[in-house]
Amino acid sequence: MDIQNVLNDAVKYAAERMEDGKSAAYIPELAKEDPRRLGACISMVDGRSFTAGDWDHDFTMQSISKTITLIMALEKLGEEYVFSKVGVEPTGDSFNSIVKLETRTPHPLNPMINAGAIAISSCLTGAGYSFEDYLNTVRQLCGRSTITLNENVYLSEQKAGNRNRAMAYLMENDNVLDCAAEEACDLYFKACSVNVNTRDLARYARLLANNGTDPETGRRIIDSRMTCIVKTLMITCGMYDASGYFALNVGLPAKSGVGGGIMATLEKKAGLAAYSPGLDAKGNSIGAYYVLQYLSEKLSLHYFSAEECLI
Ligand code: GLU
Repeated sequence: MDIQNVLNDAVKYAAERMEDGKSAAYIPELAKEDPRRLGACISMVDGRSFTAGDWDHDFTMQSISKTITLIMALEKLGEEYVFSKVGVEPTGDSFNSIVKLETRTPHPLNPMINAGAIAISSCLTGAGYSFEDYLNTVRQLCGRSTITLNENVYLSEQKAGNRNRAMAYLMENDNVLDCAAEEACDLYFKACSVNVNTRDLARYARLLANNGTDPETGRRIIDSRMTCIVKTLMITCGMYDASGYFALNVGLPAKSGVGGGIMATLEKKAGLAAYSPGLDAKGNSIGAYYVLQYLSEKLSLHYFSAEECLI
């Protein structure tokens, strides 16, 4: 199978279907992004990689950072402690919903929603880990030492972040946080505002697909239990309140962010990433979704595909 051709076709297919996408308006700096941008990368465990479109355009990780703060917290503080702070259940609500903190439990239902990621950020801050520690982890997981913070997006997130602050203060009031609400939010805003491109995310996804061992060096970078936890949560909660729809139509563990990125893992074989800033009503990138849906269909990537996987 000519994977490069299929990827090129996937990008064409997506480009014809994304005109309704709107860049995230609630963070003014993200609203400036051109919703017609579209790019993708596949990074294979066997060392090959394939790119198409705006694959090397920088965009902010946004919610994809939630997988990395989770990995850090699991590795540094342990599974038991982390899951005493947040749960592992999907919410069925939007990513920035506050409602269940009040009506159900002060502990966020999972680490892939904003409240959960803010709680995880508080655990890291409370244990003495800084944004620099986070950034170094991102650089290691993506395999690029020049990854940096997008200062303008960070400032914009801070200005537009009162909904996130409201959740943080509610959790601080209920003794869920390990540091002050403002400190937890600051790490969270910065983590969301790190610039990456699709190759960075595909390489990170490849590491997850390979259960935490770098396929090029054979070195273990993430504990395999942690990769199992993160991929499971990506399946059940990674695509916001469209996780079930994505599981049905694409069938890969995936995480999206309102910067327009989606990364997905193909067990033991590859990491995939696609990017387009135009979002649907749930906050998922329309172009990136169609790239992954096309690849899944044409290459039989769905975890329950009856056909043999073609890559
Ligand atoms: N920084 C964004 C927020 O807090 C991240 C949301 C996302 O990507 O889902 O709203």
